[in-house]
Amino acid sequence: MDRMLRSARRLCLPGFDKQELLECIRRLIEVDKDWVPDGNGTSLYVRPVLIGNEPSLGVGVVTRALLYVILCPVGSYFHGDSMTPVSLLADPTFIRAWMGGVGDYKLGGNYGPTVAVQQTAQEKGCEQVLWLYGPDHQLTEVGTMNIFIYWTHEDGVLELATPPLDGIILPGVVRQSLLDLARTWGEFRVVERKVTMRELKRALEERRVREVFGSGTACQVCPVHQILYEGKLLHIPTMENGPELIQRFQKELKAIQHSVVRQYGASAHDWMFPV
Ligand SMILES: *Cc1c(COP(=O)(O)O)cnc(C)c1O
Repeated sequence: MDRMLRSARRLCLPGFDKQELLECIRRLIEVDKDWVPDGNGTSLYVRPVLIGNEPSLGVGVVTRALLYVILCPVGSYFHGDSMTPVSLLADPTFIRAWMGGVGDYKLGGNYGPTVAVQQTAQEKGCEQVLWLYGPDHQLTEVGTMNIFIYWTHEDGVLELATPPLDGIILPGVVRQSLLDLARTWGEFRVVERKVTMRELKRALEERRVREVFGSGTACQVCPVHQILYEGKLLHIPTMENGPELIQRFQKELKAIQHSVVRQYGASAHDWMFPV
């Protein structure tokens, strides 16, 4: 709700009461509860949308807007228990977001221009786009997911790294959840820091990379096994390494989302929103 309200304000769309919208969604799900699937890995996708619907051709502040919520039962992202890794096209000629732009807001306008790039990736045999930024080719996002690198850093310390929220990164809810989970475990360093292609290539050569993955609502955590960069296909050993961390994240998230609170009287997790 915070992110949606921030994004609405950026477009001069009218604000809304976050608690009230949450309550509307809760009530909607209650009404449509028969559509909540119960198969393993399935869920009810909830997509709130806010659009201006001013009957005008001009560019200006809207006086009319429509806020609606779509519900849709969705199947498991991965088939069965097997996780399928994705390959990425990393081409610095394409830029998703830039400083001073709107890449850190969830706006429809951020997605339209990515479709052609996604198509280019597919023509080159890659499934998704790895969005790079700046002359040092920083890794920023994977398709519509945030990116994580689990590796031994140059200083010899095992860490989980993801780019910081410096204006070009979408503040993903799953991203924050993974950071919070990993920080509670306290088993390795967790950092929000820039990672460049040069650093990644060097770490791959020195066999320091354990897992690379994307995070987002649709797949939760999605392994990456290949990156096509400067005409060379870089192999990422994510799958060879378990992927231990990815599986642990998947398991923990699922345990929170599908908590059997009713049956066992287990205490609800902070992140839960009872319907
Ligand atoms: C939606 C989105 C994400 C992931 O956000 P979640 O809240 O985790 O689903 C990441 N990057 C981009 C560009 C997105 O649009």
